[in-house]
Amino acid sequence: MGKKKITGMVYTNNERITHLVIPFIYLLMLSGLSSVSSAFSQPNLQGTDNPGSRTLKQEDPPVHEVHCSRERSRAAWNIIDQYLMPFVEKEKYQLSSQCRLNASNDLFRDQEEHKIHYDANEWRCGYCKKIFRAEKYLDQHFDNRHSNLLNSNGKCLADVCGALHCDLMMDSKPRKSKCNPAAAAKNRHLCESIADSCFPVNQGHSATRLHDLFLRQFCDAHTCSGGKKPFSRGGRKHTNVFYLAISILTMMLLPIFYLIVYLYQREMRKGTQELKRISKIGRKTKPS
Ligand SMILES: [Zn+2]
Repeated sequence: MGKKKITGMVYTNNERITHLVIPFIYLLMLSGLSSVSSAFSQPNLQGTDNPGSRTLKQEDPPVHEVHCSRERSRAAWNIIDQYLMPFVEKEKYQLSSQCRLNASNDLFRDQEEHKIHYDANEWRCGYCKKIFRAEKYLDQHFDNRHSNLLNSNGKCLADVCGALHCDLMMDSKPRKSKCNPAAAAKNRHLCESIADSCFPVNQGHSATRLHDLFLRQFCDAHTCSGGKKPFSRGGRKHTNVFYLAISILTMMLLPIFYLIVYLYQREMRKGTQELKRISKIGRKTKPS
C-alpha cells in the first residue's frame, strides 16, 4: 500500500517535472527554429536583386526615396526637354527653384547625367566606369551602388507625369481607353498649378508668354471633350547627322546630274540634225 503510494507520489512528481520541462524544451525548439530560419533567410537578404534586399535597405537609417519610378521620371524629363525647354531657352527665362520642373528638383538628374551611352549595347557608369549591356542594368547598378548619389533635395519628377502626358511618351502604341473626366480634371488642375509656380504671370512678359504656352502645350489636352492634342506647339527639332550628310551629298550631286542631262540632250540634238541632213541628201538623190 505504502509502496504504491510512494510510487504514486513519484509518478506525480515526474508528471510535474515533465509539465515544467516540456514547455521549456518547446521554447528552446522554437528559438532554435527561428534562428535556423533567420540563418536561411540571411543570404536572401544580402542578394542584390531580391525584394528582400529592399527590406534590408529600409532598415538602414538614411533611406533614400525609392518610391519613385526612374522610368517615369525619365519620361517626364524628356518631355520637359523636348517640348518646354526650347521655348524657355528662346525667352532666356530661368526656371526658379520653386518650379518642380527645374532640373535641380529632379531626384535622378545627377545619376541620369552620369550615364555614358556608347552604342546600343554599351552603357557606362559615369561614377565608377563599369560597363553594362543595357540601360536597365545601369539603372539597377545606380540603385544598388550609388543610391547615396541621389539628389537629396530632389523630388520625384514622376509625380508630375499626369500633367505632362508621360504615358504618351512611354507608350509605343496609343491606348484607346475611355476618358475619365475626374482624372482629366485632376491632371488639368496639377498642370495649371505647375504653370502658375513655374511662370508667375506677375513676373514680366517672358513669364506671361511662357505661362500661356504651357497651358496650350500641356494643360488644354486634359479634357474629355477631345479635339485638343498635347504638345500642339511643337518641340525641339533634332538635326540628325545622317540626314545632314544626305542633304549635303544631294546638293553636291544635283549640278553633276544636270550637267549629264544637258550633255546627253546636246548629243541627241546633234544626232537628229545629222539624221535630217542624211534624209535631205537621200531625197535630193532619189528623183534623178
Ligand atoms: Zn558605378
